[in-house]
Parts: sequence; structure tokens; C-alpha cells
Amino acid sequence: MLEFILFDLDNTLYPRSCGLFDHIDNLINRYLEEEVKIPADEVDARRRAYLEAHGTTLNGLIRHHQVDPHDYLRFVHDVPLGDYLTPDADLKTMLAELPEKKYIFSNASNEHCQKVLDFLGLQDCFTAIYDINYFNFRPKPEIAVYQELLDDIGARAEAGVMIDDMAVNLKPANDLGMATILFDPTDGLLSKSKTALKLKSLADLPQLLDGLRDGR
Ligand SMILES: [Mg+2]
Repeated sequence: MLEFILFDLDNTLYPRSCGLFDHIDNLINRYLEEEVKIPADEVDARRRAYLEAHGTTLNGLIRHHQVDPHDYLRFVHDVPLGDYLTPDADLKTMLAELPEKKYIFSNASNEHCQKVLDFLGLQDCFTAIYDINYFNFRPKPEIAVYQELLDDIGARAEAGVMIDDMAVNLKPANDLGMATILFDPTDGLLSKSKTALKLKSLADLPQLLDGLRDGR
């Protein structure tokens, strides 16, 4: 039985092509330059290194530069969301028709998640938001946070499915026993996963879930 679905937020509930995440990306670079005083030509390499070693840029900044996570999250999420997002009535209808409980599982802040859901018109579609603050700034793909999430919702991993645009975030879910779906509109150009099902368009999600429900 499928009981719950975990949705990533950024670049999953809206497409990367809308430009919102590029704006956030630029703000992250600016934060490293202006607030942490990392030379501009070292920013990209530093972000890649932190992402690989600590899961997010933020966690690298906390460990190596004693950055205040609240200050960082305020800075990088200060985006005019209305410039990028409009209500997605089709997605709202589709989510409403899925019988499973639905949760947001995001490395962003709760405030950012709430605002994005508001702009997409999806504020009533989810039972709860598990954000980076909830896990005391420990991010996906740390496997411990997946287990804490499961404990909190009181469900077994085998009863769930997780959807994310980053294959690396799906691996721990798969290791714990969840079904996993890689949202990848580029059809494999950006990320690869050996275990996750592939989803090119959110409109195809109900059909993909039908197959999973039958198989469980
Ligand atoms: Mg994402």
C-alpha cells in the first residue's frame, strides 16, 4: 500500500526553466562574495566543494565560516517570486486527486516553501513541510534526516515514494526502502540514477503512481 508521497520543492513543483532557481543561485554567489568575502573567481569551486562534502553550500559555510544559517537563508531567498511563478491550477487538481498523504521535503527554509506554495496556489495541498530548519540545518542527502522524517509521520519507508529533481537526494530514500522518482524534464541530460523511476512532466505523475500502487 502506498500511503505517502514526499515532494521536493525547488525545481520540482516548478520547472527550473522558469528562472527562479537561477535567481537564487546568483544570490548564493553574491552571499559568498559580499558577506563571506570569498574572492569572486573562487566562488564556483568553493560551492562545488561544499556541496560535495556537506550536502549544501550552507552546511559548508556553517562549518568553515561560522555563517548564521538564518541570515544566509534570508539573503538567498529574497526573490520576487511573482516574477517567476503563477498559480498552477492543473497541478493543484492533480495533487488533490492523489489519495496518499503529501509532504514537502526541502533543503530550503519553511518561509521560502510557504511563499512558493502560495504563489503556485498549492498552499492547501500538503499535510506538512519538512524544511532545513526542522532538521536543525542538516540537509538531504543525510540519511538520518530521512529516518527522522519517517519517524515523525509514523510511516514505514516501504509505504512511501519520494520525488526530487536531484538523483543524489533520492539515493538515501531508496536505500531505506522507498520508491523513488527522479523529476527530470531534460530526460537524463542533467542527472542520472540507476534506481529511480524517471518523470519528464508532473502531468504524468498519476500514471506513474498507478504502476507503483499496483506493484506494492
Ligand atoms: Mg530540487
